[in-house]
Parts: sequence; structure tokens; C-alpha cells
Amino acid sequence: MKNFKIAEPRTISQVTSLAIDKKDMYYLMAGGTDLLAEIKDEIIEPEVVVALNSIPDLCYIKKEKDGVRIGALTSVARLAEDPLIKNEYPGLHEAANSVATPQLRNMGTVGGNLCQRPRCWYYRDPQIKCRKKGGTKCFAFRGRNKYHAILGGGLCYIVHPSDLAPALISLDAEISISSPKGDRIIPLANFYILPRVNVRKENILEPNEVLREIKIPPIKKGAKSTYHKLKERGAWDFAVVSAAVKGTVSAGIFRDIKIVLGGVAPVPWRLEKAENIIRGKKVTEDLLRQAAREALKEARPLEENGYKKELIETVLYRAALSLV
Ligand SMILES: Cc1cc2nc3c(=O)[nH]c(=O)nc-3n(C[C@H](O)[C@H](O)[C@H](O)COP(=O)(O)OP(=O)(O)OC[C@H]3O[C@@H](n4cnc5c(N)ncnc54)[C@H](O)[C@@H]3O)c2cc1C
Repeated sequence: MKNFKIAEPRTISQVTSLAIDKKDMYYLMAGGTDLLAEIKDEIIEPEVVVALNSIPDLCYIKKEKDGVRIGALTSVARLAEDPLIKNEYPGLHEAANSVATPQLRNMGTVGGNLCQRPRCWYYRDPQIKCRKKGGTKCFAFRGRNKYHAILGGGLCYIVHPSDLAPALISLDAEISISSPKGDRIIPLANFYILPRVNVRKENILEPNEVLREIKIPPIKKGAKSTYHKLKERGAWDFAVVSAAVKGTVSAGIFRDIKIVLGGVAPVPWRLEKAENIIRGKKVTEDLLRQAAREALKEARPLEENGYKKELIETVLYRAALSLV
């Protein structure tokens, strides 16, 4: 492992100006649970690691009139334990509790979870130069691809690994991004990009930008949310398939529904076609399965991951029925 320096800025503007000087060789670190593994495995070789946890005041969960604000440095554990999140946004509470292990939830931050790099075993292998690392080939395409994308792939078949992202997107969360030009606010749904937009990155952040805050609007009267995650093992694991569902149900009918999947595409994947089929109809297992099947006509499974289509059907009907 190559030596690197640690920068300990005291303000966000110190971070954004640091980035201008050092561009690609400098990496932001929050809890370090993902970044340090990438450094140790020699996937990345920073010259400078910028420790965001030296900045005070980025760790908070605050309820305000226009919703809840979450500082990017808030730990996943604090989010998982927060009573306000548990009562008002149960889907996010469930997603936070499903992340990794208690130790990782204590160290890992909400911002780091949303910006974590993919777990694809070809990307994580220092000997392999896949497209994501500047190579010319996706090794998953004709290789071992049991855990890879069935939607939105093409140049690269990574899946989005965060549990918090689908849950937050289903809740219409927005994020604040700080850059040398100031702050901008965008929907979290617009943060992530597909490989065909830029195969080297998973989100729109430039090297001089920092994810500073997440904001969730107040939940509408009568709306409920949930997060269901299917894993290969009972112990800690990433989602093979997950579904975040938010909806307003009355008399057994979804008046409004939003479905976001994890673990199936390079970005959290909105299932709009299924939402349109379900909205306004009496909810039954058959309807939910049929909606998933219809929406999944655009799926393009690889040799070993066709089973994910069936799992999506299952996770969707379980999640949606739990809200009725
Ligand atoms: C064994 C294991 C199991 C796991 N299981 C799960 C799981 O089940 N579900 C799940 O969702 N996750 C899982 N994870 C991932 C874990 O949740 C993330 O590693 C963690 O949340 C990252 O947070 P961090 O603060 O440690 O980020 P860091 O490791 O510090 O950073 C991660 C990435 O985000 C960037 N970054 C961090 N903060 C910011 C910011 N504010 N602005 C811009 N960029 C930033 C860093 O540059 C880096 O690229 C697992 C990880 C491990 C090691």
C-alpha cells in the first residue's frame, strides 16, 4: 500500500478548495469503512485522504417544518435508532437497520453509504482492469455474474449496493451538494448515473464536491413506507434484491405508490410501469406479481442471474402487501 497524507479540514469550504488543487489523487473519507478497504486492496491510490469527520456540525437529525434534515456525517446506527425516523419513515428505519453489522453501522455514515463504491468482484480485484478502472471490458458480462445487474447494464453490470438509497428515493429525499461555487439541492434520484453516462463513476459528484445533507419531506397523511431486503444469508449481507415501497392505501387500494429496487441495476431502480399498473386497483398478490412481470419485460438477465426476476416479484408483493 502506498503512503498517503491525511488532511483534516475544519470547514466544508476548506474541502472544496483542497479538491481544486489535487483533483483525482485526493479522496474524501467519512467513516472509512469502504474507502480504507479500497486503499488496502490497492483499488485506489490516494495521495491525500481528506477526513471529513474533522469538520464539526455535519452529524445531526433535525425535524423542521419542511421535513427532516440529516447531516452527511450522521452514522447509520444513529439513523437506525432515531425515534422520529422509526415513527415517521419506517421504510428508512428498516433499511438502516438492515445495513451490514452493528460495528459497520457505528462507523459508517449516511453520506458514505450513499457514495460507497460497487461490490462487483471484478472491480474489487486489484489484478483486473475492468471498464470501471479504465479498462476496455466488463468481465461480468461473460464471467461469473450471479450478483450482477439485470436492468440498466450494458457497458458495466455493477449493482447499486446501498440500502439507504432506495429507501430515501422512495421518500422523495433531496440532497445538498457543496462545491466551490456554493451549495445546490437536487433530488437524490438524480444523483446516480448509469454506466452509459460515465462508466468510471456511479454519481454526479465532481472531485471538488461534497455531499453535505439529506432532506426528506414530511410524509403525507395516510402514507406508509417499508423496505424489504432479500439476502443470500441470514447474517450481514448486501441485498441480492430489495424493494423500498411508499404508498397511500385506502379500502385495500393503493391511491398512490412509489417502488424503488436495490441490488438489480447500477442505480436504485424505479419501477414506474408497475406503479402505474397497481395504482387505483384492489391490491392482491396476483396484481402485484403481474405488475412486476410487466415491468420486468425490459430486464436483460445475464447467464447466472435470471433468478433475480422471480425475487423481484416476491419482494415487491411482500413489501406492498405489508402496507395494505
Ligand atoms: C462487510 C461489509 C458489509 C456491508 N453491508 C452493507 C449492507 O448490507 N448494506 C449497505 O447499504 N451497505 C453495506 N456496506 C457498506 C457500508 O454501509 C459502507 O461501507 C458505509 O456506509 C460507508 O460509509 P463510510 O462513512 O464508512 O464511508 P467511507 O468509506 O468513508 O466512504 C465511502 C465512499 O463515499 C465517499 N464519501 C463519503 N462521504 C462522502 C461525502 N459526504 N461526500 C462525498 N463523498 C463521500 C468516499 O470518498 C468513498 O468513496 C457494507 C460494508 C462492509 C465492509
